[in-house]
Amino acid sequence: MTTTSTSFINRSTAILAQLEETGQLKQLQMIESPMGPRISIRGRGDVDCFCSNNYLGLANHPNVVEAGIEGLRTYGAGTSSVRFICGTFAPHESLEERIASFLGVEASYTFVSCWNATEATFPTLCQDGDVIVSDELNHACIIDSMRLTTAIHRGVSKCIYKHSDMKSLRDALVSATEKCSSDGNIFVITDGVFSMEGDIALLPEIRILCDEFEAVLVVDDSHGTGVMGETGRGTHEHYGMAGTEIDIFTGTLGKALGGGAGGYVAGKREAVELLVQRGRPTLFSNALPVTVACSAKAAIDTLANNPSLVHKLRTNVAAVRKGIAEVGFEVLESPTAICPIIVGETAMAISMSNALLEMGVFAIGFGYPVVPEGAARIRVQVSSAHEKEHIERLCNALRQLKNG
Ligand SMILES: *Cc1c(COP(=O)(O)O)cnc(C)c1O
Repeated sequence: MTTTSTSFINRSTAILAQLEETGQLKQLQMIESPMGPRISIRGRGDVDCFCSNNYLGLANHPNVVEAGIEGLRTYGAGTSSVRFICGTFAPHESLEERIASFLGVEASYTFVSCWNATEATFPTLCQDGDVIVSDELNHACIIDSMRLTTAIHRGVSKCIYKHSDMKSLRDALVSATEKCSSDGNIFVITDGVFSMEGDIALLPEIRILCDEFEAVLVVDDSHGTGVMGETGRGTHEHYGMAGTEIDIFTGTLGKALGGGAGGYVAGKREAVELLVQRGRPTLFSNALPVTVACSAKAAIDTLANNPSLVHKLRTNVAAVRKGIAEVGFEVLESPTAICPIIVGETAMAISMSNALLEMGVFAIGFGYPVVPEGAARIRVQVSSAHEKEHIERLCNALRQLKNG
């Protein structure tokens, strides 16, 4: 080995050793079954799964699987191109129309992930003189997209506001207005459902502030789409807002809309068209595989035809939240399918999560740096695919943990 690589290997080894010593080393579990309410983990057997984003049980739904197989048969495996050369297939178009009509917006465009969609959004839509205003607890992809934007466009500034604090958002908008050039635009970005707290953005109030300050409202509803609102349209529907009241959505096809994977930007036609024309991930990276696009469309169709999936999810969420509280744990209150049990230190969250797994319940502990130091948690995620028996076993395991 060269001296350089020795130095790098030693440094990496030391970091990994430190993670191990402090109980922060993550173990990747090998799943040997389809995703569902009960899954098979290598070396452990069947466990009840309470940590997937499979909120509507669509990840392995027969319609979704069949549509993917059909897509694979008809179009083959690879797109072999970026979208603007020869990578746009008919299923991309029908999926994008489906996403737009589902959300109630003008247009949408897909990416291989929501991470990728978000990474495309701000660097493409922003230019010097613009300001991005962002909730402090926004998803990592938003934070990184802003970092990328300010690195590419040195004249773009950022203002961060306190989590869901409307006074702080107003202050940020006042300061954004001062920083914004005369032809600049202000963008306000928020998660719809916050992935670690499980709470929801105050979209109606944020909309009013955006109108007052003439700001573009961008909502990443990755944990809200398919989950929130009477028919699962998302956090805007929860508040009775039309899709058009949100200027731009970003979202994932890998959570409730479990077509496999993928992400999208949806909303105003001009924003979507700019991403088609100039988004670097769309110009330089392969299209969403067609089989995945077919599955994703089937997932949205299945949800649209079965609003009962959303109702069952809601019933299950209520049962799980009640169960956790009865056991004596504190769960952050909210209407979403994310139920975080705050336990404190990272090592504590990891050891509790390990103990749950020993009892056949799979729920992951999150600690620093995913959440702030001292606010480590077990995140319980509920699915419409869960039945009473799964929820009972979760509560029994939590009770055993509580009683030592
Ligand atoms: C999960 C998540 C993403 C990432 O979605 P992928 O499609 O897996 O890249 C982006 N934003 C938010 C808010 C998320 O919760």
